[in-house]
Parts: sequence; structure tokens; C-alpha cells
Amino acid sequence: MRIGVPKEIKNHEYRVGLTPSSVAELVNHGHEVFVETKAGCGIDFDDDHYRRIGATILDSAQDVFDTAEMIVKVKEPQPSEIAMLKPHHTLYTYLHLAADKPQTEGLMKSGATCIAYETVTSPANTLPLLKPMSEVAGRMSVHVGQHYLEKEQGGRGVLLGGVPGVNPGKVAIFGGGVAGINAAMMATGLRADVTIYDINPDRLAELDLHFGSTIKTQYASKPAIERAVAESHLVIGAVLVPGAAAPKLVTREMLSTMKRGSVLVDIAIDQGGCFETSKATTHDDPVYEVDGIIHYCVANMPGAVARTSTFALNNATLPGAVQIANLGPEEAMRRDPHLANGLNVSDGKVRHKAVADTFDDID
Ligand code: NAD
Repeated sequence: MRIGVPKEIKNHEYRVGLTPSSVAELVNHGHEVFVETKAGCGIDFDDDHYRRIGATILDSAQDVFDTAEMIVKVKEPQPSEIAMLKPHHTLYTYLHLAADKPQTEGLMKSGATCIAYETVTSPANTLPLLKPMSEVAGRMSVHVGQHYLEKEQGGRGVLLGGVPGVNPGKVAIFGGGVAGINAAMMATGLRADVTIYDINPDRLAELDLHFGSTIKTQYASKPAIERAVAESHLVIGAVLVPGAAAPKLVTREMLSTMKRGSVLVDIAIDQGGCFETSKATTHDDPVYEVDGIIHYCVANMPGAVARTSTFALNNATLPGAVQIANLGPEEAMRRDPHLANGLNVSDGKVRHKAVADTFDDID
């Protein structure tokens, strides 16, 4: 199969759909890979890296779309990319269509087969192509939280690990899933005083077994959340109700009980956020203050560590790319129902139930 990798064009997006090693794997399977010039330059993969392992470098995205049968990307296609998609293309990337009607309509009009990373499933009923980005965001949340707790950044001036003779900072993590566990790993590594809140008792038991005495767990009742917010220096929102908007766990009223200069990191902002006062921010301007509390609500946190995120993403997406390239999209999805769950749009129709249910006026 002829596989194309255009340069990402979304603002501040430095990730790339295929690393040189992933390209090598596809070339070893007998496929041809076409990479847009400078596609990986933001994370130091220059054109020669790709050429050396057998890719062909093309001058423009248009050349890549004109040549390739499958397009492998990171972010959802932008309008200029949708305009280049044709019915013979397979698009393999994050789409997040439920939040984006114009994109859904554009992809339907293109006639292309569009497989979304975020809805591919695993036999354990998880979302394995979403997981690496939750791991990255969870780990980053503690770094950014500590940064904004510094006095110069407007924070309270607290070192999360404390020092001998001085108590560590308190960290509350709402949601003990992939992002929450990864946040807890970083926060315990810093020796902070960490509590994870979740509404799934089985999850709380797993966390207790996994972390032992290095964390505390609590059922996420309203009173427990109120106490957590009032006591903590860093509050991390990492809840997810699949397919739904994030529940608002922290109200504006609760902010008045918080210590001035405390920090809220709302990882769940891509699902609308779990703090009432959250609004999406960007890496250009990541924080704002409400009632003396710093809010960090960047919707694409992994973009800040684009090199790590690209490797992590490729580890998860490459097996699917190889399956599609080896068998063609129809046969690959026929043989693997979990890959088939990634199908969002094909032949001008929405194929994913959750997306179809969101836009019941689209057909
Ligand atoms: P996950 O499904 O692994 O974990 C979510 C956890 O939240 C579960 O354990 C669930 O029981 C818990 N939960 C649900 N409702 C709750 C409630 N009311 N109170 C307490 N806990 C509750 O999800 P994940 O992969 O960790 O993702 C978490 C969020 O992070 C998602 O919204 C995801 O989209 C987002 N995310 C954001 C970024 C970013 O850059 N901002 C990057 C990656 C992921």
C-alpha cells in the first residue's frame, strides 16, 4: 500500500503521524511511505532520517494526498486537508467527531474511510490508542502543578515534596483512571501527600493495592471533595464518563474555601472540564486565575512534550497501521472487530453509533 504522512498543520502541533522507525516497519512489510518535507522537523526527525529508512520525501501535503492510499496523522484533519481527501483514501488519526459537526460533514462529503484512534478498543474493553496521551497528560499534570505553585508564577510558594522538618504539599487527584494513576506516580515520586478520589470502589481497591501506603484513597462523595478542595495545594481533575461531558465536581463556591495561590489542573478539559470555573486554554497562554486560584486547562497537554508523545502514540498506533496496510481497510476491520470500532465515517456515512447519536440530524 502507498502510505502518506503529511506535516501537521494545527497551531503548535509538532507531533508527526509516523516516526522513522514506524516507517521502517511499514517499508519492511513491503509498503511505500511518502512523507511531506519537514513533517518531523519540529521534533528533530529531518527528511534524511526518513529517506535513510526508505521513505520518499514529497514537497507538499497535496503531493502526499495525491500519491497515498492511506493517510496517517495525529490531529483531526483541518479544512484544507479534508478538501484533499478522496473516496479511495483511508484516514487513520484522532478525529473526536462528536465535538465537531463541520469536520463530520466534511469527512462524509469526502467519501473517505476514516478510522479514529480514540474509538479503537481492546479485548479488555479499554481505549488503547487514547491511553498513551492520558499517560502523558497525567504525568505532566504534576510538573505543571508544581511549576505554578511557585511564587514567581503567582502560586502559593509550596514545594510539593516538602523538606526535612516541613510537611509536603497536599495533592488531590479526582479520577483514578489512566491519567489519575500516572499523576499519582509522579506526585508520590516527589514525596507529596497524595489522595486519589474515585466513585468506582473496585478502582479504589486496585489503587490501594498498587500504591500501598504511599497514597490514600477516598470515595468521591460531595463532602469528601469539599474537604479535599479546601485542604489541597494542587487539585488534579482526571475524571472520565465515557462519551459524556465531565461531571462538575468543584463549584465556583468551593473556590472560596481554597488556600490562595493553590493550583487546579483540569486534565478533563477536553470533555468540558470537571471544575465549574474551567475554560480551555492553550500552551501559548496556559493559565488564568479565579478568586486567587490558578487554573491550568490546556486541552492538548501532550503537544508540549511532542517528542515523547509521538513515540508513545506510535507504539499504540503502528500495529493498526500495519494491519490496514497489509490487508486493506475492509479486510483488516473484518478480521479485527476492535480496529473496526475505530471506523467513524465511510462511503459518506457516519458509522460510529456515539457519533451518529450525537448528530441525529446528519445522514
Ligand atoms: P479513565 O477512564 O482511565 O479514568 C477515569 C476515572 O474517572 C475512572 O476511574 C472513573 O471511575 C473516574 N470517575 C468517573 N466519574 C467520577 C466522579 N464523578 N468522581 C470521581 N471519579 C470519577 O480516563 P483517562 O484516560 O484517565 O482520562 C481522563 C480524562 O483526561 C479524560 O477526559 C481524557 O479525555 C482526558 N485527557 C486530557 C488530555 C489533555 O491534554 N487535557 C490528554 C489525555 C487525556
